[in-house]
Amino acid sequence: MELLVDSFMKEVEVRNPHEEEFLQSVSEIAESILLYMEDHPQYKKYKVLERMIEPERVIMFRVPWVNDHGEIEVNRGYRVQMNSAIGPYKGGLRFHPSVNLSVLKFLAFEQIFKNSLTGLPMGGGKGGADFDPKGKSDLEVMRFCQSYMTELFKHVGPNMDIPAGDIGVGAREIGYLFGQYKRIKGEFTGVLTGKGHEWGGSLIRPEATGYGVVYFVQEMLKMRNDNLKGKRVIISGSGNVAQFTAEKCIAEGAKVLTMSDSKGFVYDANGIDSHKLAYIMHLKNVKRGRIKEYAEEFGCEYFPNEKPWSIPCDIAFPNATQNELDHQDALTLISNGCFCVAEGANMPSTRAAIHHFESSKILYAPGKAANAGGVAVSGLEMSQNSLRYSWSREKIDRKLKVIIEQIHQSCVQYGREENDYINYVKGANIAGFVKIADAMLAQGIV
Ligand code: GLU
Repeated sequence: MELLVDSFMKEVEVRNPHEEEFLQSVSEIAESILLYMEDHPQYKKYKVLERMIEPERVIMFRVPWVNDHGEIEVNRGYRVQMNSAIGPYKGGLRFHPSVNLSVLKFLAFEQIFKNSLTGLPMGGGKGGADFDPKGKSDLEVMRFCQSYMTELFKHVGPNMDIPAGDIGVGAREIGYLFGQYKRIKGEFTGVLTGKGHEWGGSLIRPEATGYGVVYFVQEMLKMRNDNLKGKRVIISGSGNVAQFTAEKCIAEGAKVLTMSDSKGFVYDANGIDSHKLAYIMHLKNVKRGRIKEYAEEFGCEYFPNEKPWSIPCDIAFPNATQNELDHQDALTLISNGCFCVAEGANMPSTRAAIHHFESSKILYAPGKAANAGGVAVSGLEMSQNSLRYSWSREKIDRKLKVIIEQIHQSCVQYGREENDYINYVKGANIAGFVKIADAMLAQGIV
């Protein structure tokens, strides 16, 4: 098996030098798929995996804008259109200084499997810029978004490519991007998801990723006749995904002990309740302040420059960003009694950490399965836009739950191993792959 992966990866490394994150995500998929392809030679014969790892198109462009001091700034914008076998490209935009081609190719690659798992007709893409919205005024963010969309509009559209949010791109940015697209094209269409509810957005979209991760954990626990009540939960991050993971955990009777940002984490031994969570939402979404202020407000511990993985817990939600949980963190979590890890972020665990989760046989849900609720409700937003209609909260929440249940089922179907251990990584990768691969076979060599 290792030989198979190594020889496949050798060529991928030559073609994509220095793209560490992309290579990491491809090797994780290769570990699950290569063996499966041995028994399904049609995929090998038609070089489906080789084609899948080559983006259909990469767009890279200059984004010049003027800051509040009248100075010119230049950023680099991207859109990676990875695969459109099962639907138009779909995936978020990330605005963060760490954004580069490797990061966006890994995200776009993950996205095609994630979108396939939702069962909705969405291909995979991802985009963004190395722009940092932190510390920028609203008008600076607006000018940046307008400049970014002035190029991007040529490459996207409601039947072509439908971006959404990701790190650094929330309701405010989607609003500015949508405004500029509408102004240039002169049409009001569902070109972006995550829009405000008053202008074509879907209810539950803000909550969807966080709620979905918790629904996924509930499905995993159900298999053991267990539930979230009384479970000690640690969460990294304090953005959209982390906030609504916390909200749902609290509603289900779990005790949320930590949240974090890029500067450190807070540990509230009494648990973050809904009142304290409202404080965090205001702090992060309106004041755009630091999580440290929570510790000052509620008199709990703050750990600067640290991640929360050393806090004993039952369930961990890595909900911040890629590679935030390494091998040592995995060892610490498990030796402290953690028996379930569910990823709200994309690829937050390193490969060594994943191997440790697998060999320890804990419940481990990879991001592409666990956090698919966000893009799933984006898919429902596209449906509502096409219908020119808006569904109720209850209806969308029900649909979200059903989609997550189905994703869990697919993982169980393809990931069941000896002694009824479910390898969710293998399950998610193969289930996501089969649908895209079959569509690619049907559509010929394109
Ligand atoms: N950025 C989110 C993700 O990683 C959502 C993408 C979308 O809604 O299109 O799945």
